[in-house]
Amino acid sequence: MTADATPGSVHGAVQTVDDFLFTEDRTALLGSRCTTCRACTFPRQGGCPRCTGDSMEDVALPRRGTLWSWTSQGFRPKAPYTGTECYEPFGVAYVELPGHLIVETRLLETNPSNLEIGMPMEFTLVPFRDDDYGWPVHTFAFVAVRDV
Ligand SMILES: [Zn+2]
Repeated sequence: MTADATPGSVHGAVQTVDDFLFTEDRTALLGSRCTTCRACTFPRQGGCPRCTGDSMEDVALPRRGTLWSWTSQGFRPKAPYTGTECYEPFGVAYVELPGHLIVETRLLETNPSNLEIGMPMEFTLVPFRDDDYGWPVHTFAFVAVRDV
C-alpha cells in the first residue's frame, strides 16, 4: 500500500483479497477466454486448458449462475488461508456460470434446508479479514437469488 492510499477505499472501491480475481470495479469475477476455442478459465490464465492455445482475453464473468454442488467448511482451513482467527463455518460451492464455467466459491447460506441444486445464485463480496488499519478486506461469495 502506498503512503497516499486511503485505507478501505483502495482503487476507489472496497478492498479485496487477490485483486487479480476481480474486475476493476469489483462488480464481477474476472476470468480468461480463449480467442480460438472460447473456453473460459477462472482465475485468469495465459494458456488455454482445452486447445493449449496461448491467445487468452480477459472476460468479466456473469454475476448470476446456478448452484451446481455444495458442502460446508466446518473448520478453519490451514495456511495459506489468511482469514480471521475467529473462525465461523461457511458454505463452499461450485456455481455454474452459464456459457462460461463452474467456479468454486464461498456461500453466504450455510443452512442445508435453504439450498437446492440448480437454484439461482448471485455474485457478492463478503468481509474476509481486516487490514493493518482495521478496514475490512473482502473476498467473493455467492448468495441465493430470492427475487426470481
Ligand atoms: Zn482454447
